[in-house]
Amino acid sequence: MSFDPNPTHQPEIAQLGDPVLRQKAHLITQYQDLQLQTLIDDLLITVKQAHGVGIAAPQVSQSLQLFIVASRPTLRYPYAPVMEPMPMLNPRILSSSQTKVKDWEGCLSVPNHRGLVPRHQTIQVEYCDRHGQLQTATLTDFVARIFQHEYDHLQGIVFVDRVEDPQDLISEAEYQTLITEKVK
Ligand code: ZN
Repeated sequence: MSFDPNPTHQPEIAQLGDPVLRQKAHLITQYQDLQLQTLIDDLLITVKQAHGVGIAAPQVSQSLQLFIVASRPTLRYPYAPVMEPMPMLNPRILSSSQTKVKDWEGCLSVPNHRGLVPRHQTIQVEYCDRHGQLQTATLTDFVARIFQHEYDHLQGIVFVDRVEDPQDLISEAEYQTLITEKVK
């Protein structure tokens, strides 16, 4: 694992087509590793600067089982919970509801596009926090969606793979028109 230790130099975000986004990410074994802790800090800064609600390590070209979930209210999800951005290491989905919900997603690695993606409404998950402590949680709706989107990144899956109808993939500009009309 090599990573620029300079915190003022933010990593470039890998774009769709970059092979790193198609690899299965490696398990983390050394939680106290300084480079790992620096990577977590850098991801926290990057997701904030990019106004994202989540980011996975492969998106900054680090093929490790690590992502950040950073729910906050958005135009599309005005009731999304505000949470302290949460690093999740070696995450697993233990069970998922049969009910799936379709909603719009975007991705820092697929700029200027939005897609309608079905996701399980509720999932039970476990992950390690940045100190290596095992945590379990039941996630629903928007937070469950973020988790499933980021978890996919660790399997080499991008949200466009999950779009069922090619017509459900639209431009960011069209998406903005769509949600503005809906809000009116
Ligand atoms: Zn993404």
